[in-house]
Amino acid sequence: MKLFEWTGNPFVDTSLMVILHLANKNEISELSYEDVKDVLGDGRELANRNAKLKSFTMVFGTNNSLYQASYGYKKGKGPSEKNLKIYVAETKGLLDEIGKNSKLENGQYVCEICGKSNNFDFESYYNKVCAEVGEKVKKGKVLGRDWFPLSGSLGSDAQALPAASRAMHICPTCLFSIHYLPVALILLGGKSAVFQSTSQSFTMDLVTTIVDEMIARVKAGNSDTIGKKEGTKVLTTRLLDYFRRLQEEKRWSNLPDYTNLLVWKFSNSGTGADCELEEIPNNALMFLWEAVHYGLRQEIDKLLSKEPKDPRFQLLTAIREGKDYERGLYPYKKNPGANVELFVLYQLKICSVTKRALKIAQIIASKYFNLLDDKGKKNIKSEIFNDNTNKSKVRRLMADMAETGELSFEDYTQLFPEIDRHPIKVAWKGWNLIRFFLYHPEDREWDQKFSKIEEGGKEVKPHPLIKKASELYFNDYVERKGLERFYKDILEEFKRGTLKRKWLEGVFSRLAAKGYSEFTMEDWDEFCCDEDGNPVLSELLFQMRLNLANLYGNSKKEVN
Ligand SMILES: [Zn+2]
Repeated sequence: MKLFEWTGNPFVDTSLMVILHLANKNEISELSYEDVKDVLGDGRELANRNAKLKSFTMVFGTNNSLYQASYGYKKGKGPSEKNLKIYVAETKGLLDEIGKNSKLENGQYVCEICGKSNNFDFESYYNKVCAEVGEKVKKGKVLGRDWFPLSGSLGSDAQALPAASRAMHICPTCLFSIHYLPVALILLGGKSAVFQSTSQSFTMDLVTTIVDEMIARVKAGNSDTIGKKEGTKVLTTRLLDYFRRLQEEKRWSNLPDYTNLLVWKFSNSGTGADCELEEIPNNALMFLWEAVHYGLRQEIDKLLSKEPKDPRFQLLTAIREGKDYERGLYPYKKNPGANVELFVLYQLKICSVTKRALKIAQIIASKYFNLLDDKGKKNIKSEIFNDNTNKSKVRRLMADMAETGELSFEDYTQLFPEIDRHPIKVAWKGWNLIRFFLYHPEDREWDQKFSKIEEGGKEVKPHPLIKKASELYFNDYVERKGLERFYKDILEEFKRGTLKRKWLEGVFSRLAAKGYSEFTMEDWDEFCCDEDGNPVLSELLFQMRLNLANLYGNSKKEVN
């Protein structure tokens, strides 16, 4: 039987990674009992380190032998010689128990953490340790969360899990290893965190850098857990550092497909014992990886230096949840926001925006910018599109561009994808993209630079009925009255803002009268009205206008 194997339990596996690292081994299969014995030595180093680490009580609470007041522990002073002695005896005792299990094939218990069979009897082990150090056996001592995090039972613990009506059976390997967990913990948004990943080497590398840094810290007299008061920034910078190292060492040419990172955030202390799991998905890791690859590390550091303290509004939370990072990426008051490249990368990787949508947004922004006078150019406000007049100006510009062929209906749909069909509504996001590019109308190198980056999202299909209605109406009109009359009667009237509900109803009834099946009164209701039967027409009218301008522009080109 192998004594040390990965268990699938994030606490134990992280602890085993620490032991593996301290034993200077890379593979768990290479780790022998003798190696672990060497790592523990006389047990004093582990005891002294854990006595100092602030993270120790986050794993074991304050009921354990190292913090037991009846053995002499004093707040402010720390563990007494007696605390240390008992703690050493406990850890060495667990290692002895591991040795006893080494030749066991079928034990009478199954470990509820790793699933291995064993013959470990907690009570006799505990009695033996007490006898060895000359302490009285504490009656009713059972294995609780002072021995293994979150393992409370009704017998010993108020924070018992619903199913835990008895003490758990945990094998000595799991109980022993876990004493190496405190040195591998970081604080993430105020909670202790351990990691799991589809890539074992990824987790191992994260853990070993934390361990090295923590050991050095303790030696230098600082026992604070890494990440105190940093929110999620501690992990963001660590991931960036790590990816940079990998890229410099050329160990990976790319992040392995599907790599993700699971973050177990837990607390085992006091009355707030709990555990939550967060996933940092592949696209979020890819974003950080590419940011390093394209030399945008400094730009991210700038964002991080300005991020709010509340983890809910920090960069890592936004990329994990796949949301736009409005507080950091966009210019706001004195904050200039991200540079174009970081912004674009973020939109492609995290927000699934297409390159086409980004390009169109920048072209529109650039044209709009050029229409402004010098004063206007200098005084662009971040919240520019909260003002409807500004939105109308941009809409008008888009309609002009549709007429000259610079903006197709399909382009528009990329930038303002539909979020509802009945009645038609489009996403606000397009306004955000345009307002960002108003600050960077001419920085266009990103397109070339990111040529190898895959499309962020899928191309959005425009509304088929709007396209059809426009085409049928256009052909009918031009056939009857000619192209120039169409321009004068329709496009010019649109510019004047006179074509509204009545006109649209006319379009529908004309097409219905001509026998087209999708333009009956019922269709009209479904297409144009909200649940209460009130027509919601502005977006629909605008999309008709764009289409008709496109059709006119194309016909005009053919004529010339
Ligand atoms: Zn176990």
